[in-house]
Amino acid sequence: MDQIVIENLQIYAHHGVYREENEKGQNFYLNVVLETDTRSAGLLDDLTLSTNYGEVCRFLDRFVKEHTYKLIETVAEKTAEAVLLQFPLVRRITLEVRKPEAPVALPFASLSVKISRGWRRVYLSGGSNMGDRKRHLEEAAEALRADEKCRLLKMSDLIETPPYGGVAQDDFLNCAIELETLYTPKMLLEKLHEIEYAHKRERKIHWGPRTLDLDILLYEDCVMHTEELTIPHIDMHNRRFVLEPLQQLAPYAEHPVLHKSVRQMYAELPKDCGSVSDTVRRR
Ligand code: ATP
Ligand code: CA
Ligand code: CA
Repeated sequence: MDQIVIENLQIYAHHGVYREENEKGQNFYLNVVLETDTRSAGLLDDLTLSTNYGEVCRFLDRFVKEHTYKLIETVAEKTAEAVLLQFPLVRRITLEVRKPEAPVALPFASLSVKISRGWRRVYLSGGSNMGDRKRHLEEAAEALRADEKCRLLKMSDLIETPPYGGVAQDDFLNCAIELETLYTPKMLLEKLHEIEYAHKRERKIHWGPRTLDLDILLYEDCVMHTEELTIPHIDMHNRRFVLEPLQQLAPYAEHPVLHKSVRQMYAELPKDCGSVSDTVRRR
């Protein structure tokens, strides 16, 4: 990806653990790398197609002056997020916050914290088999759309599917959702749980009836397995109700453990593993 680079932007601000630092202030220096596609702006010589680095500098100056944090870790975290939210063409930011006048009673040239943050591509699966199933799924998409740390890119058709896992219950409506997010996987799961609870989701029977179920299928090419979160979703490759809508959005997305495309996983499903009967709504 192309880069816009800002070196040693000097900002007088009041961050620090000590009261004296908060009262008197000191110089901070920011090194910034913005990852963004500059090709169309470059070819057409048109600033409106790029990110204006003057605006970025003024934004950084204002933001770092207006807030006061104890840690430069926090300065970096909050500032990086603010830039990603403010400048839509920036895909990723690497930000170093230097504090060369930090009160350390030893000789040193500079102290800094450097972080890298960006938008992550994620695929979710949604399911409902209680109440107004269509409304539950559409409101889940709305809730994601309303969250500034998520950009909902695409939603598949809603498809009607038989229940999975042996519990006798009503048919499901399922969908897949593509989004970009600033959330970590764990934070995204918390957000999804929050949306499920707002739809009165209860966990009584494993794989039982539910108003709303939102699972993380893929999170970029992340592979993780903790007590609360497995990514990619541990059973996605066996589920027609997951792969059918996902194939609509991302046939060539790759499963980072099995190294198979969504299309290939879908083609390899056994014939009898839950047929998808209907498309309820075309988008
Ligand atoms: P399944 O995960 O087999 O589809 P389920 O969706 O019915 O079953 P839930 O009761 O909704 O299961 O979730 C149980 C727990 O699964 C969640 O609280 C969460 O901690 C965990 N979990 C692990 N990996 C994921 C994932 N990729 N997406 C969502 N939840 C996950
Ligand atoms: Ca599920
Ligand atoms: Ca779930």
